[in-house]
Amino acid sequence: MKRSTSLLAALCSGLVAGSLTPAAHAAIPTVVAGDGVLCDLTRTVSGGATDVRCLIAAGADPHYYRLTPANRRDISQSKVVLINGYGLTPTLARLSGSFSLVPVGEQAVPSNPSKDPHLWHSPTNTSAMAVVVSRTLQQLPISAESKAGLKRREQTVTSILRDLDAWNRRQIETIPSAHRALVSEHLAFGFFTDRYGLKQVAMIDDYATGGQLRPSSLKSISNAVQASNTKVLFAEQQPPSKTLRRISKRSGKPIASKILFADGVAPGKSLIETATANTCAVVNAQGGTCDQAGAKALQQRWETVR
Ligand SMILES: [Zn+2]
Repeated sequence: MKRSTSLLAALCSGLVAGSLTPAAHAAIPTVVAGDGVLCDLTRTVSGGATDVRCLIAAGADPHYYRLTPANRRDISQSKVVLINGYGLTPTLARLSGSFSLVPVGEQAVPSNPSKDPHLWHSPTNTSAMAVVVSRTLQQLPISAESKAGLKRREQTVTSILRDLDAWNRRQIETIPSAHRALVSEHLAFGFFTDRYGLKQVAMIDDYATGGQLRPSSLKSISNAVQASNTKVLFAEQQPPSKTLRRISKRSGKPIASKILFADGVAPGKSLIETATANTCAVVNAQGGTCDQAGAKALQQRWETVR
């Protein structure tokens, strides 16, 4: 969030210093990035080429998001509204106006049989989303120099995400094979578990219809948790829900000390920091070892995308 503001500030001070013409300054189009990791991804790919406004704050739940008056103002000024798609934010999918609404995830990952919106848990999906964002922004009325900048940042971003994918794989390989499982409440990590060969158990979504935990569901969940051979159960919020505490008690599996971020970036963190934190939380809890220095190096590269 900070980066775009400072870039714009730099552009505005450039204007004052006379290094930019007023026309060039006024020509920067406004773009809205809706949900999931799109805010950080779009700001990073955009750099100073567009003025990116984000709707959903880090840590907020995209599934039940309601627009604020400030959001509506940003949307009315924008040429393009980028959303994740696959039903992540029903509120944003219904928007209409004088802008193009681009479901980035649906274009980037057209083959998604379960229509799981949590695409970004696989860096290959996030990378495909970066390409869609870059190509969408290149359609806007911006200078040739800005278009070249978009192309350059698209390549840097996809290269960092390729290395994140390889880093993830190396971390997961440190988990003893018997414990390669990810047990959480909701069905949100399928792209992660499929990509890296972990067993996914979504306790509530798989076993409790409508989120109701009946005694029979509690028994099925407990059996599935035991069968997964996981060491821990993952919460998606702090403190853990009452339901999760009941499952923990029944199954005899402790709740992991670190939560997983299912629905977007962690507050104050980039998508790289969020992804590496999730991976390390799983790896450390399941008996592997996490390469923190490698995670930090990826983040440093992300911060310096220009
Ligand atoms: Zn979700």
